[in-house]
Amino acid sequence: MTHNKTLLLLAAVMFACPLVFAQPADNKYLTSEDVIELELRHDLQQKNRLTGKFATVEDSYRSALLERFLAYTKVDSQSQLDENMAFPMNDNLRRTAALLYQEIQLFAKPAGWKTYMSENQYIYIHIPSNIKKKVPVLGFSAHYDTTPDIPGSGIKARVIKNYDGGDVVINQEKNIVINPQNEPYLGKMIGQTIVVSDGNTMLSADDKAGVAAVVTTLQTLAENPNIKHGPIQVVITPNEDIGMAGEGLDMDLYYPEIPFDFDAGVNGEVIVANFSAYGALVKIHGVHGHQSYAATNGYRNATIAAAAIIQDMTPLEDLPNYSTGEDGYIEPHHTTYDAQNNVVTVDFRLRFFDPKQGEDWFKRLDKAVADAAQKYDVKIEKQVTKQYTNVADGMHPAAQQLVGKALQAAGVQPKFLKERAGTGPAMFAKRDICLGAPCLPTGQNNPHSFKEWLSEKDLFVAYKAALNLVKFVQDVPSVPQRAQKTQQRAEAAKAKLLNALKKDQKVQGIIKGK
Ligand SMILES: [Zn+2]
Repeated sequence: MTHNKTLLLLAAVMFACPLVFAQPADNKYLTSEDVIELELRHDLQQKNRLTGKFATVEDSYRSALLERFLAYTKVDSQSQLDENMAFPMNDNLRRTAALLYQEIQLFAKPAGWKTYMSENQYIYIHIPSNIKKKVPVLGFSAHYDTTPDIPGSGIKARVIKNYDGGDVVINQEKNIVINPQNEPYLGKMIGQTIVVSDGNTMLSADDKAGVAAVVTTLQTLAENPNIKHGPIQVVITPNEDIGMAGEGLDMDLYYPEIPFDFDAGVNGEVIVANFSAYGALVKIHGVHGHQSYAATNGYRNATIAAAAIIQDMTPLEDLPNYSTGEDGYIEPHHTTYDAQNNVVTVDFRLRFFDPKQGEDWFKRLDKAVADAAQKYDVKIEKQVTKQYTNVADGMHPAAQQLVGKALQAAGVQPKFLKERAGTGPAMFAKRDICLGAPCLPTGQNNPHSFKEWLSEKDLFVAYKAALNLVKFVQDVPSVPQRAQKTQQRAEAAKAKLLNALKKDQKVQGIIKGK
């Protein structure tokens, strides 16, 4: 999940993202030691599974899942906003993506799956169906970047097995302690495994837990061809925590019929709706001149028009402090004054669940601007930017029921939530409403804080729910319009990849595959 405030600086720029295949040999972000470490871990996991170290195959994947999550926490991967870049990208993100991509190759390649990495470090995996029946294309997403809002470099995860129900001292010096009194859900973890940081950084379960759940699900499918599945598309993105997960998405490579995201909390809580978020910049152009002779020299004050627009736009009941539950809000977040040009800019934020409420507010904005322009005789410009979209507006009709069934079969009661913020799929949905997806719980508690902790049990539930989705989606009837759009996108992707192949020999190695 992401914070609202980081969305302010969104550059609403869409751009093409050429595909490249990052070979370890020519990837400066990946050392040969990295590759060996990944291979050793993979080999050991396979050996453990095949030689019966674990009572069941499920137990072996459960162990691999936690191991994978812990390995991910060691990799620095904070995204950062950079106003000078259309799509901010740093070396840590590039290295994280390279490691992930290399890891996925270890099982995806032998299974004959297609994997792609875009120039802006989106990882795409296309899994062909292994059944005859035509079933909807399932989608999974997660994000590998972590928030820049709190320290996240050099994370030292600590695993607490068989939690006894008492105080968990995350950091003695800083007096960072969690216990069932301040964390009621922790009280339900007695006898379970939890993971915390050392209190100097976040834990980064947001969203490395989600990535671990998705990757382990894929590993399970690749290594167990007896598990029947339809076609599956997967995307693992950067820059979700700065509100830009949708910006670099190639919708030809990720456009499933029924998408699901793995980036929510605990205990069966699924996010099925969120705010639609818009920013409205209103620029009032004053006119220079001496105030004393304004009646004749044309001087116009911009501030008075700004005040009138703010007044008209935000009656008390629409302010954030009067908004709870499913109410939206409007906020004149801040104003700036450009003295040189005598321009006052008001930056409004609009958040709503109900599209009708949004429509009314945009009409109100039009009227407020027109009235102020006329009354105070100033020129006013406005620029409205969509920041993210309510996933409920375009969600597949079967998605909610399907995720409920999948969680129930994984042993938890689903609870459906409406989030007063944005999710990764909300950022995708801004590009295309059909990409609106439910967001599944992955075991994250207190994200973006030193008190962050992971419930290993909930992480395992996410993994099991993903496998259940793979199974249950086969009973969902196709929605012809969606199926057609997915098909069209897949054909566009094929053409795009062929074109890339002609242009760039580096791509050859990957798209020549099965
Ligand atoms: Zn997240």
